[in-house]
Amino acid sequence: MSDLFNNYIGGKWVESVSGETFDRKNPATGDLVATYTKSTPADVDAAVAAAKEAFKSWRLYPAPKRGEILYKVANLLVERKEEFAREMTEEMGKVISEARGDVQEAIDMTFYMAGEGRRMYGQTTPSELQNKFNMSVRKPLGVAGIITPWNFPMAIPSWKIMPAIISGNTVVFKPASFTPRTAIRFVQILEEAGLPAGVVNLVMGGGADVGNAIVEHPDVPLISFTGSNDTGIDVATRGARLNKRISLELGGKNAVIVMDDANLDLATDGILWSAFGTSGQRCTAASRVVAHTSVQKELVDRLVARADTMRMGDGLDESVDIGPVVSANQLKSINDYIAIGRNEGARVAVGGGIASDGNLGRGHFHQPTIFDDVKAGMRVAQEEIFGPVTSVIPVESLDEAIDVVNGVKYGLSASIFTADVNRAFRAMQDIFTGILYVNAGTTGAEIHLPFGGTKGTGNGHREAGTVAMDFFTEWQSIYVDYSGKLQRAQIDNQE
Ligand code: NAD
Repeated sequence: MSDLFNNYIGGKWVESVSGETFDRKNPATGDLVATYTKSTPADVDAAVAAAKEAFKSWRLYPAPKRGEILYKVANLLVERKEEFAREMTEEMGKVISEARGDVQEAIDMTFYMAGEGRRMYGQTTPSELQNKFNMSVRKPLGVAGIITPWNFPMAIPSWKIMPAIISGNTVVFKPASFTPRTAIRFVQILEEAGLPAGVVNLVMGGGADVGNAIVEHPDVPLISFTGSNDTGIDVATRGARLNKRISLELGGKNAVIVMDDANLDLATDGILWSAFGTSGQRCTAASRVVAHTSVQKELVDRLVARADTMRMGDGLDESVDIGPVVSANQLKSINDYIAIGRNEGARVAVGGGIASDGNLGRGHFHQPTIFDDVKAGMRVAQEEIFGPVTSVIPVESLDEAIDVVNGVKYGLSASIFTADVNRAFRAMQDIFTGILYVNAGTTGAEIHLPFGGTKGTGNGHREAGTVAMDFFTEWQSIYVDYSGKLQRAQIDNQE
């Protein structure tokens, strides 16, 4: 059964002016999930106007009171977690336990940002003059454009929308076209919790129409974007011409180092979870395994044995390990990389094909795949594949391993398995990624530390934790002179 879902603008659920719709099908079964209104730049104009109007009062609404609304949101998400997780699996395919984790991440972020309503610390400093008080305070910028991908359809919007609104901004939110229903559920909860009309507006549709219109709208001073590199660079380029503040969270080519002293049971568990969770469609997925030659064979044997028995299927089945990938195009792109790797001389140790036996043929399934004997410069070891594929790259030493880890254009996440604390600290010192794990895989960030990557993964901003506030606010330095006379800084303080 299908419903028609509409945009949320100025506190009302409204159809696009286009009158057109688009469908989303379950990537595991091909069944229709729902039908959505398909928006145009005119809908973006209406959403921005509503957000701009709401900003006038929302910025003045006390931040602790904003936090109280966020606490209600978090509690409602807790109540509806299972329902939203099941819908997420239907919509984008990740297995149900991971979908629960995605909703949990939104819950954690919402509670965390609710508390920020009572902090949002600024600074006070002594003045160089008598009878004068100096401080700095955080201020919101206005309407935030929030553009998100499909792979963490509730977590990523929460990372952006919660810091945006707790600090007094209002929002125009465009989710990925593969996951609008999860976005709608999230916004429905905001509405139910009593968020005033216009503070968050939802506009559904394609990147070219809706995303572009947000990026280029003169009344949207900041854009928070997560997605692919090509789109992100395009967004940043167009936004820069309009002097906007832009945060980019882009791709990754994350690596796990396995040293000769590693606990191989632990490394095997960590690699399988990081490489094949969400069918490899995580920005932090372990798509490279940098293995010391003395453990390479043993490690690959273990990985192959386990990957071979992983169950593919509809993620709503609790016994399934690997769900579908998000679309037919994504499946083709992943499978094209298998041919690219083979042609480059990499050896397929396990998997290597599209899975279409029985019911799998109804959806978009790719076998968990491990390339062995990969060279660090090969395309499969350099480019983001975004599927259940990982490449084992043999190395002779820690120095060589670190060079391999750093030798890609991305810098999101990395990990090292070793029993030697000195090697662990060398990795922390010399690996240039935004996130680093010791004796764990490359995924599993917690919401209260900075999240983001170096080099091609982003443009220097970080999400999550208190640092998220740095993007969504700007500083105002305030000098209060209560001396009753003109006191000139740098001039009257000399004697
Ligand atoms: P995508 O770039 O195709 O789309 C992301 C969003 O941008 C979607 O909402 C899309 O509709 C919109 N968009 C597309 N064209 C646009 C345009 N011209 N102007 C404005 N918006 C436009 O990415 P995707 O396929 O949805 O997501 C997968 C990518 O996201 C991967 O590369 C992955 O690594 C990355 N990702 C990064 C992080 C991170 O934090 N670093 C997290 C998750 C995903």
